[in-house]
Amino acid sequence: MSTYDIVLLDIEGTTTPISFVRDVLFPYVANNAKAFLEQRWEDPEMQKHMRAIAVQANKDVEACIPEAIPIALDSLADPQSAEAKRRVLANIDWQMKADRKIGALKGLQGYMWRFGYEAGQLKGVMYPDAVGAIKKWVQNERKVYIYSSGSVEAQKLIFGYSDHGDLLRYISGHYDTKIGSKLESSSYTTIAGDIGVSPEHILFVSDNIKEILAADKAGMQTMVSVRPGNVPIDTKYEYPKSTNFTEIPL
Ligand SMILES: [Mg+2]
Repeated sequence: MSTYDIVLLDIEGTTTPISFVRDVLFPYVANNAKAFLEQRWEDPEMQKHMRAIAVQANKDVEACIPEAIPIALDSLADPQSAEAKRRVLANIDWQMKADRKIGALKGLQGYMWRFGYEAGQLKGVMYPDAVGAIKKWVQNERKVYIYSSGSVEAQKLIFGYSDHGDLLRYISGHYDTKIGSKLESSSYTTIAGDIGVSPEHILFVSDNIKEILAADKAGMQTMVSVRPGNVPIDTKYEYPKSTNFTEIPL
């Protein structure tokens, strides 16, 4: 490995256990959706998310999706409507069980997570060695950026409310899939251009071999993150690997 000036980090499976979303964030929504509907029904932002869920639900009914439950838009304005609450909750429930990646559901999840982080009920889980390395990189005048398929807003919550305190000041910038798919080498070229360095000065760390291949194709240096629970990497790939960020030359 040659020297690098910039570190570009994936989150899940790299700085954070791959199980964090499945074991912490999704259960938070499943366990708290009912209380949110009861307590925050009239909150304008909550209303906005529920309207989006209702619009989607009615589209799903039209598309004859068997689990879809229609929600009358005007029923949402009624704070007493137990029926509307039941329908919204049932919609959230089946969409989450089906692991749907639908904008309306993501919007509500993001709203609930922000509340959970701000209330101290959620903390972004970080591997301690990743936190140590991030701090050291910054001390050594390297810059650390994040590239994750989670939205920039969700990334900022994980780092801002981490179990190691607020880490946002160590992060120079965030990218999500708005810049392009993590599997396309052009996304890594675009990120290098946006940061303003040529790709070979960037070290990209990720657990996903397809992302490593794409970053390598764009000319970045790469490091495969091997962590408990990650998908094992085929031994035919000869990219540098680390099970712990302390193994990465800082
Ligand atoms: Mg990952």
